[in-house]
Amino acid sequence: MTAEIISGTAIAQELRNQLLSDIKSLANQSIVPGLAVVLVGNNPASRTYVKNKQKACEKLGIESRLVELEEAASEQELLEVIKELNNDKAIDGILVQLPLPPHIDETKVIEAISPEKDVDGFHPINIGRMMTGQACFLPCTPFGIIKMFESIDYSLSGKHVVVIGRSNIVGKPMGQLCLSKNATVTYCHSKTPDLKEFTTQADVVISAVGKTGLITKDHIKEGAVVIDVAMNRDENGKLCGDVLFDEVKEKASYITPVPGGVGPMTITMLLYNTVQSAKAKL
Ligand code: NAP
Repeated sequence: MTAEIISGTAIAQELRNQLLSDIKSLANQSIVPGLAVVLVGNNPASRTYVKNKQKACEKLGIESRLVELEEAASEQELLEVIKELNNDKAIDGILVQLPLPPHIDETKVIEAISPEKDVDGFHPINIGRMMTGQACFLPCTPFGIIKMFESIDYSLSGKHVVVIGRSNIVGKPMGQLCLSKNATVTYCHSKTPDLKEFTTQADVVISAVGKTGLITKDHIKEGAVVIDVAMNRDENGKLCGDVLFDEVKEKASYITPVPGGVGPMTITMLLYNTVQSAKAKL
């Protein structure tokens, strides 16, 4: 069996086209969605992520505002910035680019963002709402993966999903969202003694680890769906995932590539959440 490739690039484009029409309707009512991106320090990777997010906003007509603070900025200064943005009517979404410098408490900062503007879906209130099935901002990466399943018309109901990784931003919410779609969910992590024992039983394997070559053809059963969340660099500096794509695609039914898979979906769901937040003004 050769897998069908789930193109995140194509699905993301379709979603962005839909957003464009939502943004036009909002414009007719004099509403321009606004996203504030707060960047502390000079981490080059963070700077690139921020630039990409701003570019994506510009293309759709979302107003993006970059707030930059120096590496040495205090936690208090950052909390003040967030307070101002929480009260700014032109801003519908606030994103603080992580990681923050070590002297700033990330948890405190995330908790300072108004849950109604937390378009990353990281605030404990939004996480609690997600856990209890209430309307909320869903974390962008897992939300984007759910959109991928919808776009290939794949029902998670009754399926066994193995999520590898249990971070607060990807693994944990990913499993929760699959559970809410009636999947049976198993989490694996660095203390799982034999990964294969679980992954070979899975209808769906979602790998969010960050280790090139972690998932080989021997890790999956024939016809499984394989979602690769990771963004690693191989020895030549080329972007790659956790999954050995060339061999796994010969056994899976569906597979996501890296690049062009989950990555474009994550940014798109950030735009989506920002537009939903702006629509709430209506
Ligand atoms: P993270 O916080 O570092 O979490 C990694 C997880 O992998 C942890 O739960 C860890 O287990 C687990 N793990 C480590 N080694 C393992 C092993 N040998 N077997 C099984 N599990 C293992 O990372 P993250 O933020 O969730 O991100 C994961 C990956 O996704 C990274 O490559 C990141 O760049 C990528 N990512 C991509 C996107 C996108 O848009 N495509 C978005 C976010 C993240 P423990 O909990 O036991 O330590």
